[in-house]
Formats: sequence, C-alpha cells, structure tokens
Amino acid sequence: MVIGFDMDGVILDSDDFTPGGWIVEAFMKTLRDFGIPETEENAKRLYISSLRRDGKRFCAEFGIPDIETLWAQREHNYLAGKLAAIESGRVTPFPDVAALEELARDYPLAIVSNSPQEIVDLVVKKFSLDRLFRLWIGRGHNWDELAVAKPAPDLLLQMKREIGVDRGYYVGDQPDDVTAARAAGLVPVLIDRTGENGDIQSLHELSEFITRHECALQNAERFNR
Ligand SMILES: [Mg+2]
Repeated sequence: MVIGFDMDGVILDSDDFTPGGWIVEAFMKTLRDFGIPETEENAKRLYISSLRRDGKRFCAEFGIPDIETLWAQREHNYLAGKLAAIESGRVTPFPDVAALEELARDYPLAIVSNSPQEIVDLVVKKFSLDRLFRLWIGRGHNWDELAVAKPAPDLLLQMKREIGVDRGYYVGDQPDDVTAARAAGLVPVLIDRTGENGDIQSLHELSEFITRHECALQNAERFNR
C-alpha cells in the first residue's frame, strides 16, 4: 500500500492568499498584463477551479482571444512568483512533516500535486524531501493537461501504477483531494490544521489514523469470512 500527499497546504506552507502575498501578486500581474482591472474579484476568477467553470466567459468579457492565451500568461506569472517565494525562503515545509520519517520506514510515501512538475521537483530538492518520498508527481503546463489534475483521479492512479500497489491513502486539505482520492480507489484523509474539521489536525496524527483504519479493515474482513 502507498500513502500519497497533496503538496500545497499539506507538506508545503505555500497557500498564502493574503494581499501582497505571492499568489495574489501573480494573479494581479496577469490582470495587468491583459489590461484588466486589478480587483480581488477578478483575481479570484484566475483560480484553476474558476477558470475551468468560467474561463471562456472571462476571455470573451475582456477581449482575450482564447483560454490558452490567458492560461499561458497566468502560468508564466504563477510559476515565476512561486519559484521566487520558494527560493527566497518565504515558503517552507510545515514543521510536522518531520512526523513522516517514521511512516516512511513502514510504507512508500508519494507526493501528488496540482502544482507544475518543476515546482514539485524544486521543493523536493530544496528541502531534501527525497529522504521521505519515493515518488513525486506534478502537472503539466498546458491548459489541456489540466484535465488530468485533481479532482480527476489520473495523477493518483499514476502514483498507484508507478509504486505498484492497488490500495492506499491520500492526505489532502481540499474537497477536490477527497474527490480525487475516492475516484482513484484510495482512502481520503482530510487534514485541517485549524482544528475545526478534517480527519486529522496535524501530520503527527496520521500514523495513528492509519493504524486505526487498518485495524478496522482487518476486523471487517474477519467478520465477513
Ligand atoms: Mg492543497
């Protein structure tokens, strides 16, 4: 079995949506590049989920020839902003990632992210995460390739195939992670560090969560026999 992890918001403390943070700045620059008013509302329309739903209408509204043109510029700015934030040390792994050392001795661990592959590669290299993870998968750059990003199960199925297992867990911080995990036949584990919701509030709780779940599975099997 494999334990997969989403990267942003689970391994990497990178989801900075505050004004002046790297994400908002990358989106504001994209609006500026196309001469679109730099409002918070317009910036939110550049999220992947928004673009999937509303991207064509957004382009028509602001005279952008097609979604590929908008996406290429948005991707360029996003990539530059995120690389700079990681390189400068503004974005770092969460301290509780240290809790995975023990799990890595018992199970293969993998990262599956909606972030571009080169960002995932940089994060793994910069923070020496290859000590913990056997495999790390990101997405491609083209608009078409977003079809296989989460909530689609494709990248998680690729993880199962490459590790060579037919079951496992996937730890994420968003509803899309849960949807993708279920569609890929994995047990979803929702982490919420604010302690409000979720299956676990910290990666320190993951090992116990999995042990409990595995015991329940074994008991159910024994009962069904
Ligand atoms: Mg995330």
